[in-house]
Order: sequence, then C-alpha cells, then structure tokens
Amino acid sequence: MKTSALPVSELSQKATSAFELEEEDPPLSLCSSKHLFKDVPPNLWGDWRWQFRNRISTVAELSRFVPLSDAEQAQMSLVSIKYPLSITPYYLSLMNPNDPCDPIRLQSVPTSKELSQSLVGTEDPLEEKEHSVVPGLVHRYPDRVLMVLTDICPMLCRHCTRKREWRNGGWIRSPKQIEAMLAYIRQHKEIRDVIVSGGDPLTLSTARLEEVLMGIRRIPHVEIIRIGTRVLVVLPQRIDHELCNMLSKYGPIWLNTHFNHPKEITAEATQACELLLRAGVPVNNQSVLLKRVNDSVDTQVKLCHALLRSKVRPYYLFQCDEVAGTEHFWTSIESGVRIIQGMRGFTSGLAVPTYVVDLPKGGGKIPVGPDYVLERRNTELVVRNYQGEIFTYTNLRDNDECGSAILNEMVVA
Ligand code: SF4
Repeated sequence: MKTSALPVSELSQKATSAFELEEEDPPLSLCSSKHLFKDVPPNLWGDWRWQFRNRISTVAELSRFVPLSDAEQAQMSLVSIKYPLSITPYYLSLMNPNDPCDPIRLQSVPTSKELSQSLVGTEDPLEEKEHSVVPGLVHRYPDRVLMVLTDICPMLCRHCTRKREWRNGGWIRSPKQIEAMLAYIRQHKEIRDVIVSGGDPLTLSTARLEEVLMGIRRIPHVEIIRIGTRVLVVLPQRIDHELCNMLSKYGPIWLNTHFNHPKEITAEATQACELLLRAGVPVNNQSVLLKRVNDSVDTQVKLCHALLRSKVRPYYLFQCDEVAGTEHFWTSIESGVRIIQGMRGFTSGLAVPTYVVDLPKGGGKIPVGPDYVLERRNTELVVRNYQGEIFTYTNLRDNDECGSAILNEMVVA
C-alpha cells in the first residue's frame, strides 16, 4: 500500500476531452509525496484546465494517493471496466485517504458493491431515453425540456443516475444535433424553461457553451435557462471571470448544483458561488440522500447552513434513484422523512430542502415529508407542531359569496 503523489509532469500528459485547450502547461515542479498535491504551484492548482487534464482515472494512479490493498485494487479495476473512475485533484484533496468512510471517498472511489449489487435497480429508472424527442432532448413535463449536451463530467459520482452513459467513452453533441434540439424548442411554444445538463455542460468550452445559450436565447418563448452542473463541488476553478461574463449576457439563468456534504463547501466553492451571484446567476442546491454520506439530521443541517452562508439555497433533497450499481447508497424513504422532520422548525425554513422522490418510469418528482395533520374534521384540522404539541385549527369551506367557487376538498373528505 502506497500513498505518494504522482509527479506533476506525469499528470500533465493526460488527454482532455471536452475542454478545448489552446495552451501548453508551463513547466512543473514535483508534487508533494507527503500530502496529495500540496506542492502543485498555486497558478496550476487554480487553473481548471490543469485540474481537468490531471484527473485521476486509473486505479494505479488512485493507489498513489489512497491506501489500497492488492485485492482492493484488483476489485476496483474490475469495477472501473463497467463504471470508469475520474476524480479531479481538487476533489481528491478534500478526502481523508485513510478513512474508508470519508464522504468524499464514498462518492468518488469505486467499490465492488457497484458490481455485486448491479442486478438490483435498472440502468435508466427514469426512462429518459423513452422521453427523448430528438437525440439528447428530453421533453417530459409540459413547459420545460432537458438538453443533454455531453456525457463528460470532471468527477464521476458513484451514485450517478446516468452512470449507464459512462462507458460510451465521452461525447459532446455535434452542432447539427444541437440545432435539431433548438428546432424542436422553436416549434413548441409551450416550452418556457430549458435545462442545460449532461454529464456536466460546464465541461464544454466557454465559447461552445455560449453558442448553445445564444441559440436558446434567440427563441422568444423561452423565459428561463437552467444549468445543471457539479463543477462548483468538484472543479470550482471552472467558475472564472470569462465564464461569468459570458453567462451574464444570457440571463435569466439559474444554476442548480449538487453539494452533498458540508466538507464540500470550501473557500474555493464559496468563491465560485459568489462569482456566479455577481454575474446575476442564482445558485440552488440539489443534494442526493446517500447512505453513510449524508443520511443524518446533523449532516444535513450542517450542509444546509453552510450552503446558506455561501448564499446557495438548499432546494431539493432527492431520494437516491434506483439505478443499477448504486444500491449501497440507498436509504429508506422513512429515513429521509425523519431527516426533514428533524430539521423543520428546528432551523430556519430557508435551510430545509424539499425532499422529493423522482418516480420510476418518468412519473416525475413528488414531495414526501412528515405528516403534520393528525385528523380532518368537518371544519377543523387537528395538527401537531414540530415539537409534537397538538393544536386544533379552524378550516372553513371557501365561501361562494366571497368570490370562490372552490370547495375545500380536505374538509369535504
Ligand atoms: S456530476 Fe452529475 S451527471 Fe456527472 S457523474 Fe456526478 S451525478 Fe453524474
């Protein structure tokens, strides 16, 4: 077992795919052999191109940072044939390599469970392929569409809903395919919200991403653009001034990201959120409930408080999708409900995300939460508060004479 750092010169040889690089890396000094990438010069460490180029993508490389037995390495190599491995140096630097239960490690390092349990769940439980109207464009809900621009991500999250795509080797939609998506959106005037996603769409060069955003913005009935990305978590260096200046031209743009654990909210990540906000791009967080990573009230409260301090709104907490090879992350629904119950009332409402289950077969998201209504009487509800105290709340029928023709269905029932 060995935990020395890779020479930077060796790391910098690695190929990039989605990023379009124009310049060569400057000469590099050697990394620290003591603590991950400690000795990488700050100008390289802060350069997203360097971070992306130097992703750890083989078990042999990983074993130079994380203590792994020969047996573990052999198992991981087997797993990575089906579900490849990719970790940015930045994200790896957040990990305690000596703790097998470290939340960063659990999210990024392959485990044999991905294969032994991959008979449970399905590859595409949300049936995104069935709802694709043209390649890469999912139209499931009436007024919004999802554009999948690439399957490339800087870090491959072991719990990913789209891990079925990883073995396709990394692709970006061609200009022709993007034009086909835009043509569909042009023809469907009911579409007011376009979600740009992947993979991670911010692995595209800023110029290429701008072409897509410009194309969307030329469609008058599109009101908002949303970008789904995890670069704030795994490659915050990507949020630079060039990108923010570009994004600021095509608003309103909302950005949804995916912090799962308070350890991920670093100074770099907070700075990335700040830059986006200054460019007029609000950031929301959509975390996934993952066993042993964040399935406790304490971790969720710490995560949501840290998000708010970084001016990010905790938006959704997702039940982990039933994707093949992710069963070791699944929790019961009751566990999620207990977490929300332990948060609601005990901290500010802004810090409590909506817990949702994305239903299989494309059924859509449904919110799930603790039930505070204990009994429904004719004109009363019996409710409990967050401390378990019981109250009776008057619940009158809506009055036709006051202008509403709607009966209160809860009372009628
Ligand atoms: S960033 Fe998102 S799409 Fe990419 S691997 Fe992680 S969960 Fe999957």
